[in-house]
Amino acid sequence: MPLTVRQFPCLSDNYGFIVRDDASGRTACVDTPDAAAVLKALAEAGWGLDLILNTHWHPDHAGGNAEIKAATGATVVGPAEVARISPLDRTVSDGDEAMLGETRFSVIGCGGHTLGHVAYFDAVSQTAFVGDTLFALGCGRVFEGTAEQMWTSLQKLAALPDDTTVYCAHEYTASNARFALSVDSDPALKARTDDIFAARGRGEPTVPTWIGLEKATNPFLRAPLIAGQAGRPDFEAFAAVRAAKDSFKG
Ligand code: ZN
Ligand code: FE
Repeated sequence: MPLTVRQFPCLSDNYGFIVRDDASGRTACVDTPDAAAVLKALAEAGWGLDLILNTHWHPDHAGGNAEIKAATGATVVGPAEVARISPLDRTVSDGDEAMLGETRFSVIGCGGHTLGHVAYFDAVSQTAFVGDTLFALGCGRVFEGTAEQMWTSLQKLAALPDDTTVYCAHEYTASNARFALSVDSDPALKARTDDIFAARGRGEPTVPTWIGLEKATNPFLRAPLIAGQAGRPDFEAFAAVRAAKDSFKG
């Protein structure tokens, strides 16, 4: 494996990620939900920190930047919107690359949750860090963009190889599963949700997930199948499922 990923829970339901390019020993953290938790994970791994890769500006993603940069000297890389709350050394957007030693992260513009949200994808290890765009059986709320923009962003992620490992930033899966079951009766979904409720009952994470698994079972990616109508564009079906989730009580 050219890329080592260490995942840890922090705040109420976030995941933090520290990653190492094994060839060079260069290290990054993806988002900074909690500076103390990130620094503790680095200490436990015995790693320094070269790069902070931010997905979007929200405080549970970029709020630890200043403290972690001060402690480690790491370079902060992210979309321009991160400058609202943090130091930002290099601005990236769709189509850019961020190198970590020999690992080449492609920057994928994924606006919708926030306007400038990006994901980071390494094609060699088939690893994607998707922030608050795609979740296990879910997707981020559309705070700043439009449903059409969010649908386009999700389609970009769905176009990654099926075997791509997807690191999402929150453990929302059990609640996403309850909603998914309310809108989709597909047997593959039922089987997956049984596994999810069992895993959460044992206190186990349900992140990471995989692109192929999400394409098969995620109600937001399946929106045209479960809420589509003849003649209606796919993003409107997506918007209908997203609106249903926003008001779902379960
Ligand atoms: Zn967010
Ligand atoms: Fe978040």
